[in-house]
Amino acid sequence: MKTASTPQPHLASVAKPAAVVIEGLQKSYGDFQVLKGIDLVVRQGERIVLCGPSGSGKSTLIRCINRLESASGGRIVVNGCDLMNESSRSSEVLRDVGMVFQHFNLFPHMSVLDNCILAPMSVRGLSRAQAEERAREFLRKVGIESQAHKYPSQLSGGQQQRVAIARALCMEPKIMLFDEPTSALDPEMVGEVLDVMVKLAGSGMTMLCVTHEMGFARQVAERVLFLEGGSIVEDSPPESFFNAPKSERARAFLAQIL
Ligand code: ADP
Ligand code: MG
Repeated sequence: MKTASTPQPHLASVAKPAAVVIEGLQKSYGDFQVLKGIDLVVRQGERIVLCGPSGSGKSTLIRCINRLESASGGRIVVNGCDLMNESSRSSEVLRDVGMVFQHFNLFPHMSVLDNCILAPMSVRGLSRAQAEERAREFLRKVGIESQAHKYPSQLSGGQQQRVAIARALCMEPKIMLFDEPTSALDPEMVGEVLDVMVKLAGSGMTMLCVTHEMGFARQVAERVLFLEGGSIVEDSPPESFFNAPKSERARAFLAQIL
């Protein structure tokens, strides 16, 4: 038990430990600086929506978090592990970071079930039976269990994206990153994927979602970040972001998409 001590306001105001801490993150491709010093703390269980114009660096930012891109400067700490220091521990920590891409990125030559059991078996060391049991459970949760034997090309885009979410969840991640998971879908399939994401949000998952689905943002996000030209220019609760965006650029952006 903790004993009572002098109040520490800076700690008292912190509800949950940080899942991700980003400080002064920079990323350049050659001479072109995409991320210009990003500071961001994502707390455990927090749900954040990241939006902004095309080319503003949204994908680059979340790809740096799971090291699909290497940062050019700054610091990224995931679950207490500094990713800028190459170590076996950082690879371990990154297993807890799941990612869902715009274009699903399922393995086309593998069945839905095999897509879902590959990493749990090879990375987590589960037996085939254990991995299949877990895969069926998550496929059931996303409403795809009956399609487990099919190949991705036999499924609709919405179904494929739900499989991609189930596949990520089979690794039992602590943090989920989404990069425009519904923007490649036909409009009638957007809802079924968002429903799965809303359910996931309800389960307490830490989520950082790049999306322009503002209904989703209103429904589940605690914070909306607006990225422009490689900088976070707004970080607000959805109500204030939608009702009174601070920057002119965010206002113009919202006027375009809403
Ligand atoms: P967003 O996801 O917000 O649309 P991105 O993070 O994909 O933005 O890209 C930000 C900028 O970085 C864009 O101008 C893009 O052309 C550039 N960029 C992204 N990836 C690369 C790359 N691998 N090589 C060179 N430039 C890139
Ligand atoms: Mg992008």
